[in-house]
Amino acid sequence: MSGSTPHGLDDNLEERVAELLADEQYADHPLREVLEQVMDRMGQQLSRLERITQISDRYQTGAQERVLHISRRYDRQIRKLEKAIRISDRYQAMLNDLNKALQEASTHDQLTGLPNRRLMADRCRREDHRSQRESSTYSLLAIDVDRFKTINDTYGHEAGDRVLVELGQAFRRGLRDYDSCARWGGEEFLALLIGADLSTAEHVAQRILETVRSLCVDLPSGVISPRVSIGVAEHHTGELYTDVYRRADAALLLAKESGRDRFLVAAPPTELEIQTAAQLRDDPPSA
Ligand code: GH3
Ligand code: MG
Ligand code: MG
Repeated sequence: MSGSTPHGLDDNLEERVAELLADEQYADHPLREVLEQVMDRMGQQLSRLERITQISDRYQTGAQERVLHISRRYDRQIRKLEKAIRISDRYQAMLNDLNKALQEASTHDQLTGLPNRRLMADRCRREDHRSQRESSTYSLLAIDVDRFKTINDTYGHEAGDRVLVELGQAFRRGLRDYDSCARWGGEEFLALLIGADLSTAEHVAQRILETVRSLCVDLPSGVISPRVSIGVAEHHTGELYTDVYRRADAALLLAKESGRDRFLVAAPPTELEIQTAAQLRDDPPSA
């Protein structure tokens, strides 16, 4: 049985026609010339079709390769992008950490970890504003280590540093949660007692003295039992924290002079002191 082409032609049709054309007995057949031309044209059409098929195959293969190439490039770009995002996330995290560290360093004392003078001054200013708005009060405790120079001289500077660290922790233990204590400078500390009147502030000062008295700093060079003196002052209407601090510091000096290891309460500001302070604020002396 003979097969047929996709065009419905007999598979052997060309062969058969070629045989007939070669047959001498049909040499003068009237259809011979036309048939030869048909066969020629068919041959041309077939080879054209083949070329088109080849071109189309090549195009398809090329297109597939291009798609593959583009998809590989795309994957590579995606991987690069993912890597860049990971790096950028890491940098972001590092920057955040650095920012936090810088923030901490600019607001806290390196040795004790307590707020530094700058941060404490900000907090005190905030309390000044609050007391103006809400007629609230606050108290300050000016705390100074007793005979700290002797501790340094006897046990060494490093031992002195350890004592400051332990004292800082002791102050925190003696304070209420919402109060704060800063290293004001050297071996001086300042505690801000928010909303505390004098009687509350006296209680806190007493608790701090007792916490410090129970402290023993155990060092290779010996056991140190530091003591502190405290000046207590409550904010009065019309005062700024600098005025309150000045009074607390004056009380601290008196506590030192009267034997140390104690607290003394500052006298309230006189009317004249309040007026002078207000005047100085309104009309500061020119430098
Ligand atoms: P007083 O009871 O009158 O306060 O006597 P004091 O010896 O504590 O006071 P004085 O002002 O004579 O000495 C304070 C010493 O504190 C002097 C200084 O070298 C020391 N000091 C200040 N800052 C530090 C510090 O960060 N570490 C150490 N180890 N010592 C410090
Ligand atoms: Mg001292
Ligand atoms: Mg001092």
